[in-house]
Amino acid sequence: MAPSESQLRADIVEVGRRLYARGYTASNDGNISVRLDSARLLVTPANVCKGFMNEPMMVITDLDGRKLAGERHPSSEIQMHLEVYRQRPEIQAVVHAHPPIATAFAVAGIPLDRAVLAEVVTTLGSVPIAEYATPSTKELPEAVRKYVKAHDGMLLANHGALTLGADLFSAYYKMETIEHFANISFIARMLGGERLLSREEVVRLQGLRGRYGIAAPAPICSDPVAGSQADSADCQVVVAPPSRSGERLVPDRVGPVGADDEIRLTYRELTALIEDAVRNLK
Ligand SMILES: [Zn+2]
Repeated sequence: MAPSESQLRADIVEVGRRLYARGYTASNDGNISVRLDSARLLVTPANVCKGFMNEPMMVITDLDGRKLAGERHPSSEIQMHLEVYRQRPEIQAVVHAHPPIATAFAVAGIPLDRAVLAEVVTTLGSVPIAEYATPSTKELPEAVRKYVKAHDGMLLANHGALTLGADLFSAYYKMETIEHFANISFIARMLGGERLLSREEVVRLQGLRGRYGIAAPAPICSDPVAGSQADSADCQVVVAPPSRSGERLVPDRVGPVGADDEIRLTYRELTALIEDAVRNLK
């Protein structure tokens, strides 16, 4: 049976409280929404700290974001939520926050796409970064659209994170998983880099999704074709090369530097290289 409106109001209050208590939002950041029925959403109000909301505060809107009931204005970032509901009819709830470690990855432009934790591979697959867009503009839903069909969680470049689920708590728990994953990834990189799961293991973990009742799409790797030399090219997550399972990944690099790879030089190193080249010309 679908939860009652009063239950959903109480659940939004609780999710907001947890987001704020865990430091995933500061001040009035973040927003939460849930489907009330096929035509209406229950949405957190703008300009309110999500840690101290009460049930009557929530706003009811239609699927175009127009207010139908409530004293306050709906969150200014509601467009991003509407885009999720348009693209994913089965999704019931959306959570947006700025958890600090995951947001730091989003600010650094580093997606959380390495196959390192079995639970994350099974529940979320990879966590991509939606391109930067000004918050509260139409650009943000456009950036989200590209990833939302195949991902239940994503980073938003220079902004925060977005998660979706079959109910409010499953969307909220995905936010917890992303921040936890970001924390572990960060520390593992400080310790010399992650050891990647193999492609075979990733495919096996994907196979468990059905057993755990995970219906979300997120195809992480396509099934290897029998007899073919499968590699990571058709995987969304970064997996270990076939013969080098468990090998430590150099921080921020996968494999040796190739001809088309980006390399980074300090200003001093670049100047020295140019001076060298000029000297050789003379
Ligand atoms: Zn935000």
